[in-house]
Amino acid sequence: MPQTASPTTLCTDIAGIPVVKLAQQFGTPVYIYVASKIVERINDLKAFNVTIRYAQKACSNLAILNLMRQQGLLIDTVSAGEIHRALAAGFKPYYNNIPTIVYTADVFDRQALELVQKYKLHVNIGSIDMLHQIAIPGQDVTLRINPGFGHGHSKKTNTGGDQSKHGIWYEQIDTAIALARKLGLRVTGLHMHIGSGTDMEHLAKVCGAMEIAALKVGVGLTTISAGGGLPVPYQPLESHINLPEYFGLWDATRHHLEQEFGHSLNLEIEPGRYLVAESGYLVTEIRAVKYQAANLFYLVDAGFNNLARPTFYGAYHPMAIALLDSKIDSTSNQEELDVVVGGPLCESGDIFTQAEDSTVLKRRLPKAKVGDYLVIGIVGAYGFTMSSNYNSKPLAAEVLIKLDQKPYLIRTRQTLDELMHGEIIP
Ligand SMILES: *Cc1c(COP(=O)(O)O)cnc(C)c1O
Repeated sequence: MPQTASPTTLCTDIAGIPVVKLAQQFGTPVYIYVASKIVERINDLKAFNVTIRYAQKACSNLAILNLMRQQGLLIDTVSAGEIHRALAAGFKPYYNNIPTIVYTADVFDRQALELVQKYKLHVNIGSIDMLHQIAIPGQDVTLRINPGFGHGHSKKTNTGGDQSKHGIWYEQIDTAIALARKLGLRVTGLHMHIGSGTDMEHLAKVCGAMEIAALKVGVGLTTISAGGGLPVPYQPLESHINLPEYFGLWDATRHHLEQEFGHSLNLEIEPGRYLVAESGYLVTEIRAVKYQAANLFYLVDAGFNNLARPTFYGAYHPMAIALLDSKIDSTSNQEELDVVVGGPLCESGDIFTQAEDSTVLKRRLPKAKVGDYLVIGIVGAYGFTMSSNYNSKPLAAEVLIKLDQKPYLIRTRQTLDELMHGEIIP
């Protein structure tokens, strides 16, 4: 866990609060978020001349959105539901003519289009059909361009290139710009989001593609967006991205274009993962410890219904054990074992220690027994928001340790009755 250099260790507390106390107060499985970590990451980015727009799909609890708003961030939405959440969290559609809420998608479903038209929201357009559909005369729009190449930490998160459904294909930019003009829309923004896992060589290619696209749009352009995709270190030996280098490249592109156009340009960034991933912990209780031949399994009360990334992508998350018996000194030599960690679902893929090709892996963890807690780290992004009711499992509770260092319940655990909400026997 982040508290120590070792990824395989005992974990006694989260932000100074004992794990056992959190588990006993809120039950398990429970997501715990640490606000001070989110603010730390926001401040990393605020050190640069950039507008930060939070991509809420990473973690969209209202209390998290409220924190982002209080920190002065703008917000990105990808669905009618996310627009509804942004409004409920107190975001207004515009502030001083700056679009506070942006809708980014490759399609308008009918519900989203209705909300976009009702609030005249700024749209980041990912398909030419959306230009025909938006029908708000005089509206400013952003075009999301697929530059013809991509990058992502897995095939499923690669958001550029000809295998990706995202964005307007770069060879169709001229068509899109001409159509926008004909329809009375003003193209004021350009956006390229090409997946998390950015390396600098690749980023330089993206910046080059952005400059070419920007020159086609011309002087009406006011904002360029680098999209999201700032990586975070999940593995023990990985480190944080070099932000000065990252912003150096984007700033150079911005300056080239400012000289070309003779006016200043906004640079926006749209991070999800970077702001929230490291703030989140999933606290689970070990409910069975068993050997299958030579393989030792810890089976916990959370499954891929709560955290899907290991099953979907073979994603690695750090894990630690919190012993129920707090009299055991965490600095004493606790015996360690190689274990497979799985959940309760009736599905063989319900394993938290697996490779991208689904091979079951072992993790070195302290010896533990039923009733001890297993804490999974770096789950603040795409953790709760990808959870489901599969196997009729209730959604977990969520807790935010606010800046006052106290834990607050920010979502009640779903009840068994709520599982059937809306169902009808005709
Ligand atoms: C998902 C997404 C993001 C956020 O990506 P992260 O990897 O979480 O930073 C930003 N912008 C768009 C358009 C997205 O679809």
